[in-house]
Amino acid sequence: MAWYWWLFIFFLMGGFGGLANAGRQALATRHARQLERAEVLRRERQAIEAANRPPEPVCGCTHHLAKHDKAGKCHEEVEKPTAWDENKKPVRFEAGTCTCQQYVGPQPLSQVYADELTDLA
Ligand SMILES: [Zn+2]
Ligand SMILES: [Zn+2]
Repeated sequence: MAWYWWLFIFFLMGGFGGLANAGRQALATRHARQLERAEVLRRERQAIEAANRPPEPVCGCTHHLAKHDKAGKCHEEVEKPTAWDENKKPVRFEAGTCTCQQYVGPQPLSQVYADELTDLA
């Protein structure tokens, strides 16, 4: 076969552009895999952190434990709908207090300071 046939085939297959494209594709694939690995590591770290942290003391009324008094009543201010449109969607609100009667969320662990035991013997 004459040499110019090879040239012809080369251009038929997309020439240099095709080669560059193949290279770019390989790089992109490798980059995507690296991102994937980083994402997995990040998620693992988050799971470990979440396991070590006590749950947020948030009540069933969506308000924080700090918004509830000792009797358990919630004092967070909320918007109370006073008017609805024909689709039962509230259109007007007035200020009100949350009607929650008792905090039902997770109790935070009491943080008691304990002195280190000293050896008296
Ligand atoms: Zn509540
Ligand atoms: Zn509340």
